Amino acid sequence: MTEQAPIVIVGTGLSGYSLAREIRKHDKATPIVMVTADDGVSYSKPMLSTGFTKAKDADGLAQASTDTMADQLGVQLRTFTTVTGIDPEAHELILGDDRLGYSKLVLAWGADVIRLSLAGDGQEHVFSINDLMDYRAFRKALAEGKRVAIMGAGLIGCEFANDLRNGDYEVDVIAPSDVVMPGLLPAVAANAVQEELENLGVHFHLETVVERIDRAGQGVRLTLANGEAVEADLVISAVGLRPRTGLAEAAGIETGRGIAVNRALETSARDIYAMGDCAEVDGNVLLYVLPLMACARSLAKTLTGERTEVSYGTMPVMIKTPCCPTAVCPPPPDVAGDWEVEQDGTDVKALFRSKEGKILGFAVTGRFAVEKQALSKEVPPIHS
Ligand SMILES: Cc1cc2nc3c(=O)[nH]c(=O)nc-3n(C[C@H](O)[C@H](O)[C@H](O)COP(=O)(O)OP(=O)(O)OC[C@H]3O[C@@H](n4cnc5c(N)ncnc54)[C@H](O)[C@@H]3O)c2cc1C
Repeated sequence: MTEQAPIVIVGTGLSGYSLAREIRKHDKATPIVMVTADDGVSYSKPMLSTGFTKAKDADGLAQASTDTMADQLGVQLRTFTTVTGIDPEAHELILGDDRLGYSKLVLAWGADVIRLSLAGDGQEHVFSINDLMDYRAFRKALAEGKRVAIMGAGLIGCEFANDLRNGDYEVDVIAPSDVVMPGLLPAVAANAVQEELENLGVHFHLETVVERIDRAGQGVRLTLANGEAVEADLVISAVGLRPRTGLAEAAGIETGRGIAVNRALETSARDIYAMGDCAEVDGNVLLYVLPLMACARSLAKTLTGERTEVSYGTMPVMIKTPCCPTAVCPPPPDVAGDWEVEQDGTDVKALFRSKEGKILGFAVTGRFAVEKQALSKEVPPIHS
């Protein structure tokens, strides 16, 4: 009798570990092997931008060691192991010179940070923070400095700006947009967040870009396209993420903006599934926790014998800028309607209404942020 090939999950981020936990609720026996390029320590990635606010360093943000996770989940964990290819025909993962057979394969290998190629000799001062190991390296380097420049004014850039001010660092944010968090927040709410971040001491340089980063003393000098210069000890690059699709594409699996899956999270290859930051689920790329939790629940059922499609519900995004608490549920793209705004200084309640008056999205800041739950009930789900 040949041994049963395991379910193999690639990635031990929130997606991989949530899926393994959900599978074990239905099935304690099927062998599961988890493969990860990193150290496999369990942590909650959204907490990386709250270290100073919560007075936690990288160790403080770690939730459980790999041994604890392997024990709790009844899985075999292979850390510091990078997948280099997939052989869908043979039902095997390629790990350099090694191969690993699977009965079902789940790709939960996240998204890559976008790295700008900039002129200058100061690149070793530039950090991207997309996992706990990145954060550890950043905090170690930060022990030497007091000034941080952040490239990008999206959710991650703004959250780090707030958190670093809470840690008493000098913070400059540089971004090409004319508002913070463009595409996520309507301008009125974005301006409220920016104003409160400025009140906290963050310096914004919007509608410009960094052209070069040169060494200057112990730190660097950033030269901006608008002629300004910013001095900093360290630079955070927070200019965006791109779902990891390369290895899937090379294996002949369909990809779009992410690894293309239907609502049962099935890729175009038999017995291969994808979820989390790497996946494009029925046309949606959602780089957030609530969608991946919903995917983990439904995929666990599918993998244990009950094919189940994911249903998302309404999923507001909380923005962790404690100087201006903010929640947003963006309206679907290309839908007709208008923003209706109630405003008192930086307290903003913006409702996106259809022509018929139905609420299709919202953004709430400051004292209105507490209304997020009630408003979420009025917004139609992404797909139910
Ligand atoms: C600073 C920050 C704040 C955030 N705040 C929020 C928030 O407030 N709310 C929210 O909803 N979302 C937030 N997000 C987004 C959210 O954290 C992510 O959507 C989620 O953590 C993605 O999890 P994942 O498991 O899909 O990917 P990841 O956590 O990136 O995990 C990918 C895993 O795959 C492994 N891997 C990659 N390539 C390979 C390979 N070739 N071989 C083997 N292993 C591989 C990696 O080592 C890792 O274990 C935030 C993100 C950041 C960076």
